[in-house]
Amino acid sequence: MPDTTTIYIDGKEIKAQKGENLLNVALKNGISIPNLCYHKNLSPTGACRMCIVKVEGMRGYMASCTVNINDGMKITAFDDELEQVRKTTLEMLLSNHNDDCINCTRDGDCELQDLAFRYDLGKSQRTLKSLVENTECYNDLSSPVLDYDASKCIQCERCVKACYEMQGKGVLSLAGRGINTHINAGWQEWKTSECDGCGQCVQSCPTGAIVQKPISGIRVRKKDIEKKVTTTCPYCGVGCQLEISIIGNKIVKVEGADEIPNFTKTCVKGRFGLDFVDRPERLKKPLIKLNGEFIEVEWEEALNYTAQKLTEIKNKYGSQALMGVSSARCLNEENYVIQKFVRTVFENNNIDHCARLCHASTVAGLANSFGSGAMTNSIEELEQSDVILITGSNTTETHPVIATHIKRAVLFNNAKVIVIEPRKIDLVKYSTLWLQEKNGTDVVWINGMINVILNENIQNQKFIDERTENFNELKKTVEKYTPEYVEEITGIPTEQLIQAARIYAGAQKASIIYSMGITQHSHGTDNVKSLANLAMVTGNIGKKSSGVNPLRGQNNVQGACDTGALPNVYPGYQKVDDPNAQEKFEKAWGVPLSNKFGLTITEMMDKAIDGEIKAIYLVGENPMVSDPNISHVREALESVEFLVCQDIFPTETTELADVIFPSASFAEKDGTYTNTERRVLPVNKIIEPIGESKPDWWIIQEIAKRMGYEMNYSSHKDILAEINSLTPSYAGITYDRIMQGEKLQWPCPSIDHPGTKYLHKDKFTKGKGTFFAIDYIPSKEIPSKDYPFVLSTGRVLYHYHTGTMTRKTKALPQYVEGPYVEINDTNAQNLGIESGDTVKVSSRRGKIILQAVVTDKVAIGSVFIPFHFAEAAANMLTNNVLDPVAKIPEFKVCACQIEKVISNPEKAKICACQMEK
Ligand code: SF4
Repeated sequence: MPDTTTIYIDGKEIKAQKGENLLNVALKNGISIPNLCYHKNLSPTGACRMCIVKVEGMRGYMASCTVNINDGMKITAFDDELEQVRKTTLEMLLSNHNDDCINCTRDGDCELQDLAFRYDLGKSQRTLKSLVENTECYNDLSSPVLDYDASKCIQCERCVKACYEMQGKGVLSLAGRGINTHINAGWQEWKTSECDGCGQCVQSCPTGAIVQKPISGIRVRKKDIEKKVTTTCPYCGVGCQLEISIIGNKIVKVEGADEIPNFTKTCVKGRFGLDFVDRPERLKKPLIKLNGEFIEVEWEEALNYTAQKLTEIKNKYGSQALMGVSSARCLNEENYVIQKFVRTVFENNNIDHCARLCHASTVAGLANSFGSGAMTNSIEELEQSDVILITGSNTTETHPVIATHIKRAVLFNNAKVIVIEPRKIDLVKYSTLWLQEKNGTDVVWINGMINVILNENIQNQKFIDERTENFNELKKTVEKYTPEYVEEITGIPTEQLIQAARIYAGAQKASIIYSMGITQHSHGTDNVKSLANLAMVTGNIGKKSSGVNPLRGQNNVQGACDTGALPNVYPGYQKVDDPNAQEKFEKAWGVPLSNKFGLTITEMMDKAIDGEIKAIYLVGENPMVSDPNISHVREALESVEFLVCQDIFPTETTELADVIFPSASFAEKDGTYTNTERRVLPVNKIIEPIGESKPDWWIIQEIAKRMGYEMNYSSHKDILAEINSLTPSYAGITYDRIMQGEKLQWPCPSIDHPGTKYLHKDKFTKGKGTFFAIDYIPSKEIPSKDYPFVLSTGRVLYHYHTGTMTRKTKALPQYVEGPYVEINDTNAQNLGIESGDTVKVSSRRGKIILQAVVTDKVAIGSVFIPFHFAEAAANMLTNNVLDPVAKIPEFKVCACQIEKVISNPEKAKICACQMEK
């Protein structure tokens, strides 16, 4: 516990912590010392000199933001002398400032304007001449998301510090001298710099020097804003809390809320990528396909027609002929209703969602090793890890705000980062070691690290003896994985492997971070279990800032799994073949339930082609871009008799539907998402639904009623109450607690439980942790003469999933407009390919035409394609071969060929610049 002490400010007695920041203490106690360069989330700068005070026993004026509290300090915060010095300082700042308040978007929201008013320093009251009036000051309007105007900059450095200290980037600095001093983005235009548009500088700027571009088409001042609502970001699994400003029914501004898990941070998508919500392309009315054409109909007609068609198919072919696909984009409450609908109305367990395509192997693997298939620790704990091992996760692009925690751990806490990746990702810059493995060889290097750890006797034997089982089996299996053998298969030099093993095993607190580079393989479950082995061998599990942390991709993929949108479990992972669970849900839902596991999405495609699945009800998914082997997906979706889609936009998949229902977006409904760290977060309605769109749970409920099953939820509250009553891990995460601002992590078994920050303390969920002895199985498709390259797919920072939302925003396509393939310099030279050339990439399943980007990011013999772009969908090429346990496809490895189609030197510069970010 920090020591408490008493200080005196202007005679007022104040209790404070020893070492606390004096200015912060004063402000917290209602003593309004003026300040400009200070920000509570940043280290003090002491540059503006507005916060000067007198401290008894110290000479001169002290900038209170740079003073730490000491026993019995006596401080003068206000007297005539201090106020006069402040006024003079402020006047000097104002003489260097362009008072364009009349046309400034920060009018009414400017800390300099507030102080000018407070000290009565209007233009006519000033004695100093303006230095900027007739000076041409530096400005930079090149960024897609922000504008910089040096004439309004007071050089407080808050933006510089926010960029480095909060985001861990360090792109910004001060440049120039005197009147020409300005903020500089890496000595080049903002647009071509390393700035990735996160906007932390915009949020930290106290004046109108750095402002957001009017991305919603409206210039916004504080006084114009009609309301602000805090909600959860609809993009990735970090679950950033966003404070969203509204004018009319339009989102006009987004700021990071100062709350867990992001504490004001966001990435470019969360801050500048929400204008998709009211794009004209939104689906606004139900559509029914007649003679190949969609026609708009009333809700009643669409609901009746859909219910009737589904009932006919069920009666004709039996209940096994129907399948539901739920959505990681939807609320917990919606996923719960969708899976309940399938189980009670379709009368089967044919319910799945896109977790099958990203982390099914995590759910299966970690559940077997530890008893629980989720992130073991919390995002904020990463900053206190001694070692962070990152594998199969391009964290900066996929979970940008989590990457800031990793960067901060390195920059401010001396953490060591080990990156084990085939591709040179951004975090390599922050790493102690980068092990460049060959795609698909994860089991080999993990077994190799365990081999080194056991040979050097640096394992945690006490942990192994007390908390695990099956260690001897593992020990036998890893014997052959010597560093030399590992190098042969993975390409990782022996010395690097040994060093990595020593660093990881030597840490007091070591975290493993992984994502789809580990899971999306035909041996994805083996990869996950192997990482669990590594953590248990060193005892780096069940304690703070350690653990095995799968980063879940979409905003609510964790919640969709938790609420039962899976074919083998009810909500809370209660098995459908467990008679107790079956009885419990039958009693609650009032109908008999099937105890037979249902189909996965990947199996659904085959069964549709075989004619066993006749109707698919698909909510918020776009498999025509997201699923492997798209020709196969098209064949499957075209084979069924009836396809229903619910979505916010028309997509490549809705084109194939028989009925389309317009869904309300995240901004138009209330409920909850569960982020990657098991934290249940509020989703609050911001605007009225666009057109006639409705929440997904409402649409499903209406269909259920028409098919003879009564659902009568009046709001998301009723649904959450039912989830609480049937899902032990969510029992204490009630509507009232969420409304009171609690952001709880499951398991939270009762209303007085504080939630669980990290799992497996003292005991694994399943009792003892199980080691699995796993041998390497190569990927199913390896390079050949006809297909000599290895293709891997993934995301880029500026787009999300199938691009349905991000590609409709104003800002994000300005960073990355369309599809491209990364090719290694050496391969490109041999093939005569330059950046910007048009190339054909083909695999055994299809071909696509796209732009080449020549780079050393990918290894010789490897290529990488982002999967967001339907016009050159990477998934035309990927292999739909499955992991036998988790049924996840092998997105990350397939063999392909590249040929040059057209030279296009004009594009070269643009592509190279996109790739440098
Ligand atoms: Fe949204 Fe993820 Fe970006 Fe946070 S990091 S703003 S949750 S996309």
